[in-house]
Amino acid sequence: MEIVRMSVGPLQANAYLLLAGEAAVVVDPGAEGDLIAAELERRAKRLEAVWLTHAHFDHVGGLAELLAAHGDGAVPVLMHPADEPLLEHAVAAAARWGIDIPAPPQRTHDLAHGALLSVGGEQARALHTPGHAPGHVAFHLPGHGVVLSGDALFQGSIGRTDLPLADHGQLLASIRRELLTLPDDTTVLPGHGPATTVEAERFGNPFL
Ligand SMILES: [Zn+2]
Ligand SMILES: [Zn+2]
Repeated sequence: MEIVRMSVGPLQANAYLLLAGEAAVVVDPGAEGDLIAAELERRAKRLEAVWLTHAHFDHVGGLAELLAAHGDGAVPVLMHPADEPLLEHAVAAAARWGIDIPAPPQRTHDLAHGALLSVGGEQARALHTPGHAPGHVAFHLPGHGVVLSGDALFQGSIGRTDLPLADHGQLLASIRRELLTLPDDTTVLPGHGPATTVEAERFGNPFL
């Protein structure tokens, strides 16, 4: 499997394209959904699903455009239901930053902790990691040694918790329980900024 990172929108959120065979899953189409759709087309990939780590506007702002290229309801959108209030307020939240986003479509499927997912035969598991957002999930791809950590864990930092429905203590507990327990050499692909590893963050992250 190949993982392609596209940093999109004014907040430079990382959208990830998980590519296996002809299949593609897009994680967090945060903006520029038309560019993401064009990239899939250029690579001749079929969009099988969209997985959302959470529903902040910088992670769902490109969802409408991306799905518009595929027809109504044709592509499953997976999200943890606890982020529903954030999805409903995504347009208003973006407007407070002076950013216009098209209203993101509703999820079609609920993500739950431990849910097993697949892309082109590769397995992934959803890890509920609340704190930055109540329905935040990370996606672990054990066969690939990768975790997509969303806005829970960054290189040298952790997610903001000065936001509605966020909880600092819960975030630290989530990171310790679900992310730092992954194998040391697991590559961490965060929702913003460069890649890191579980080992580097366990020993070097000043917030942990
Ligand atoms: Zn966020
Ligand atoms: Zn973000």
